[in-house]
Amino acid sequence: MSKRLFADPEFLAVPVVGEDSLYPVHRIFCVGRNYVDHAKEMGVEVDREAPFYFLKSPLSLVPNGDTIPYPPGTANFHYEMEFVVIMGKKLFKASQDEAMDAIFGYATGLDMTRRDLQLKARDKGRPWDFGKDFEKAAVLSPITRAASFGEIGAQPIRLEVDGAVRQNATLADLVWSVPELISDLSHYYHLQPGDVVFTGTPAGVGAVMPGQVLRGTVEGLEGVNLQIGAAE
Ligand code: MN
Repeated sequence: MSKRLFADPEFLAVPVVGEDSLYPVHRIFCVGRNYVDHAKEMGVEVDREAPFYFLKSPLSLVPNGDTIPYPPGTANFHYEMEFVVIMGKKLFKASQDEAMDAIFGYATGLDMTRRDLQLKARDKGRPWDFGKDFEKAAVLSPITRAASFGEIGAQPIRLEVDGAVRQNATLADLVWSVPELISDLSHYYHLQPGDVVFTGTPAGVGAVMPGQVLRGTVEGLEGVNLQIGAAE
């Protein structure tokens, strides 16, 4: 048998609240434009016909509380606070009820974005990858099991930069609901444990600079924390 020339990368595993267990993240799906006010601030309309997605490499994930370097290639590095769905079962071409039954739990997450690169790509009709999928561009809180979280309702979702509130909405503001998103996505992918879905960000996104501290919360979940370090 041929030998592998170098070691495979290790997927980051996220703690599960109240348990001695870790959830390895294998794929990161992200939903675009899923809060009306955020679409507006980006100068675009919400597409009411169907949700749309992009992906981030799981290798972009850093542990909660990390300090990340200000990334290369950007002068407009943004936070996006998000409610994240964590899959617990295989799911393909599923109904909304089946989708809800396949959810392991929920977490809070930050979809860090090189906004200048994303918008340049968007305006030229090019892929968003350079704006969205880069090193250390995602962070997740510990995961709360779905049964402990309960029903998704109007839980507040907030983000603070250095203690000042910048994003402040509720999960009732989601354009596409969690059952709609997970059912829809399952018609394009074989979802499975290890898949997580960032459900989009509310209005109030903005730039961060080295030295700033981000703290995001969703009522009923663990918070997500990130500190921005100097550029490398
Ligand atoms: Mn996002």
